[in-house]
Amino acid sequence: MGRNRIADMRQAWIMNRKRSETTAQYLERTFGIDRRVVDLIASCEADAAAAFAATDDVRDYNQYKVLHAFLQNRICDAHFSWQTGYGYDDAGRAATERVYADVFGAEAALVRPLIVNGTHALSLIFFGVLRPGDELIYCTGAPYDSLHSAIGLTDAGKGSLREFGVTYRQIELKEDGSLDFEAIEKAVGPATRMLALQRATGYGDRKAIAMWEIEAWAAFAKDLSKRSVRTGGASIVTMADNCYGEFLDKTEPTDVGVDVMAGSLIKNPGGGLALSGGYVAGGREFIELIAARMTCPGIGGECGLTFGQTRTILQGLFMAPGVVNGALKGAILCARVFERLGYPVNPRYDAARSDIIETVSLGSAEALVAFCEGIQSASPVDGFVKPEPWAMPGYEDEVIMAAGAFVQGSSIELSADGPMRPPYNVYFQGGLSYEHAKFGVMSAVRRLAEGGFVNL
Ligand SMILES: *Cc1c(COP(=O)(O)O)cnc(C)c1O
Repeated sequence: MGRNRIADMRQAWIMNRKRSETTAQYLERTFGIDRRVVDLIASCEADAAAAFAATDDVRDYNQYKVLHAFLQNRICDAHFSWQTGYGYDDAGRAATERVYADVFGAEAALVRPLIVNGTHALSLIFFGVLRPGDELIYCTGAPYDSLHSAIGLTDAGKGSLREFGVTYRQIELKEDGSLDFEAIEKAVGPATRMLALQRATGYGDRKAIAMWEIEAWAAFAKDLSKRSVRTGGASIVTMADNCYGEFLDKTEPTDVGVDVMAGSLIKNPGGGLALSGGYVAGGREFIELIAARMTCPGIGGECGLTFGQTRTILQGLFMAPGVVNGALKGAILCARVFERLGYPVNPRYDAARSDIIETVSLGSAEALVAFCEGIQSASPVDGFVKPEPWAMPGYEDEVIMAAGAFVQGSSIELSADGPMRPPYNVYFQGGLSYEHAKFGVMSAVRRLAEGGFVNL
């Protein structure tokens, strides 16, 4: 081939690129996404530029914090192998738990694929620390739906805390969504052994609890403990449900004085890579009690296989600050887009955030189903499936869930769900990349427009 011919081809390639299809054209041609949807998204992204920049700063900080914990704990290839049988001396398991403890500013942690989910991790805290006659007080209103059975809110059967003689009370959040410190102080009595706080919105209609408020609450509880008239001399343990909150801020609850917290590895800290599992982090005395409950007294955290999951759990943690950042920007975008379409959203796009969830009040069962269909059809796995409301174990109302995830039920992956009850809130969360979360928003808007719920 002559030199001129090659130069011609180069010139043609440059011209072609200039004339090549734009992303907007591709979305329209391939997915039938209306140009007006793409324009709306672009305009909302511009509105959210400052919010995006703030989340990027938190991501950078947390990325370096995680890296530092890996280096401090001398993570190496040998940590990716695993044991059999009893699982004694699993160096990878021990190293993973040290890394988690360091990242979360805790003395110790349990990080196990055998903790089946967040509900299990949180229940381990309750059952590990509380004893018959103790009282648990939730300080953020009703706990997450899946914990009701464990606490014994709905019935006292089948091994609930109530069956074991642990009593329960809850203090509602104030009108403005803040903690009601006065009411908590009044409620605390000699039997009170644990104050619990749920950081994320859950299936509620409130804002997530900010880290500054968690810090104030932990200090307040310490102070109450000291005034032993109220507590009969016993100290009060603070526990935080940290599900969906990891890496939203530069600190975590255990960094700011909370005694013990738990979360799910198929949410934020698993970075989309962990196949299963949960973590508990906190003071050593609590982690020991909880480990005794997780396996049995005398064995505690010394046994338990990792089944080769250590590498993905660690790699997922390493990726998590970036993944959470993408999901968070997706939530911010979702907020701005649906606000502009006229729906009530919570939180607003420019509000402070303490979880990755965006709530959109869709107002009707049909719109809720349409939103979820849009998310499902945007999923890389099971994208051809139509989601339907179903009676999910552990939940009181029927729930609709859209999730086409690599890991079943993983909600750090693009997902949306909501209980079939007014005001038909959809909880939108996740996305392994910002681009995918953004596509989810586009797809939901398209589906709602098709159903005549929104006018573009
Ligand atoms: C997800 C979640 C849980 C636990 O859920 P699992 O599905 O069991 O992992 C608990 N609390 C909150 C706030 C949650 O978001």
